[in-house]
Amino acid sequence: MTALAAILRAHIAQGGPMRLSDYMALCLGHPEHGYYTSRDPLGAAGDFTTAPEISQMFGELIGLWLAQTWLDIGAPERVVLAELGPGRGTLMADILRAGAAAPGFLAAVGRPAMVEISPVLRARQAEALAGRDPIWFDRAEDIPAGTPLLLVANEFFDALPIRQLERRKGRWRERVVTVDEGALRLACGPVVPWDEAAPDGALREVSPASEAVAAWIGARLATDGGAALIVDYGYGEPPTQGGDTFQALRGHAFTDPFAAPGQADLTAHVHFGALARAAKGARAWPLMTQGALLESLGLTARAQALLRAVRDDAAADAVVAAHRRLAHPDEMGTLFKALALTGPRAGAPPGFG
Ligand code: SAH
Repeated sequence: MTALAAILRAHIAQGGPMRLSDYMALCLGHPEHGYYTSRDPLGAAGDFTTAPEISQMFGELIGLWLAQTWLDIGAPERVVLAELGPGRGTLMADILRAGAAAPGFLAAVGRPAMVEISPVLRARQAEALAGRDPIWFDRAEDIPAGTPLLLVANEFFDALPIRQLERRKGRWRERVVTVDEGALRLACGPVVPWDEAAPDGALREVSPASEAVAAWIGARLATDGGAALIVDYGYGEPPTQGGDTFQALRGHAFTDPFAAPGQADLTAHVHFGALARAAKGARAWPLMTQGALLESLGLTARAQALLRAVRDDAAADAVVAAHRRLAHPDEMGTLFKALALTGPRAGAPPGFG
């Protein structure tokens, strides 16, 4: 039994079954035994690999997106460049390197703002961004207001807690985590007020934590202007059938989310439609697939430029493979989507026109 499993069982013995969202929040963010708070989960030796870790091309294209957006909003003298859940800091490092191509952009940015709960990953980010002097925040809401905001989040929202509601005998019920014969497992809990008709067996996932962050982004963009780019796996609107996307990953393979709490990555697909609606005050542009966005930002040309610079076949193969992984429909190209939010009066951001 993991240390966290014992804590969760004691918690349930005292307070009764807990919502799935509370379980997820504790598994990922428990100050001592949480999955993210206690390790660096990324890379081949970890549990999953993300787009910025696949290739520098991803972060460079996003860096150009951010720098162009800065130009499009009139190249303000000061801007807050923020990243939510920056992992190893690779994406921000690539963004800043590419962003240097726009004269004045880095000076306007100053110190990048990093929203990160993990002390382990904060240390990795400090290494990756040595000389850039980042400022860390526990929550997005702590980032000071008053200057335009340029925000990026890659594979951040999938890590935020979800609730699951299940339709049974004409009623919506909360899915809860309980202890059964000594093991943690999912159960059908109390009736909840949820105003939607659906056949029995229907399942809904909602992420109040995600919607709260989106609401903050919307409010900030409405008052201060700027733009946000949110990239993750998910859908515009959930499917009418099925819909259970709660999953656990360990060592690059799916595993039982209740078997070893705190040791596996827990995620759910991102409901982009809900994020766009929660971001009140901002303008939400039509959702794009990651593949289509990266191609329209010049992924093929970037890959060709890298290919001209490589010295051996193995390096060339790696560029070709990375291009495919990022953009091909059988890889990350269509499962991953990009949502752009801007200030209410802004024009279409790069790639979204
Ligand atoms: N964006 C990175 C890492 C993705 S993993 C990449 O693409 O490689 C998810 C990241 O979000 C990690 O850095 C994790 O520690 C952070 N994170 C997870 N939950 C968080 C929360 N509630 N608040 C802030 N950061 C969080």
